[in-house]
Amino acid sequence: MFTLGDAQHLCWKNFRKINDKLDPERGKKWTPFVMVTDLLEEAGEVASVVKGLEGFKPPEKSGTKEMLAAELSDLLYMVFVLAEYYKIDLERTFPETVNDYILRFIT
Ligand SMILES: [Mg+2]
Repeated sequence: MFTLGDAQHLCWKNFRKINDKLDPERGKKWTPFVMVTDLLEEAGEVASVVKGLEGFKPPEKSGTKEMLAAELSDLLYMVFVLAEYYKIDLERTFPETVNDYILRFIT
């Protein structure tokens, strides 16, 4: 079974591998501020696709569910990377958060 923790570790491993290669070419390292900027950029791409899916963009720029899936995955990747950077165990905290929502709004 592929767990949330596995996904978090895998994203971090790949993030490190990619940036260990690209950092020397760029002459600078990714910092948490760049990670947050990238996360927000991906959130904007999710918003753009949803805007297209809901008919608020020109027809040639209308989004597809496949595009939304790709952008949501990009966003999730950066959430995992940022969590791992700060040693946050989303496998533990995410279910707690979901449970808090249930307790607050359903029970
Ligand atoms: Mg993207």
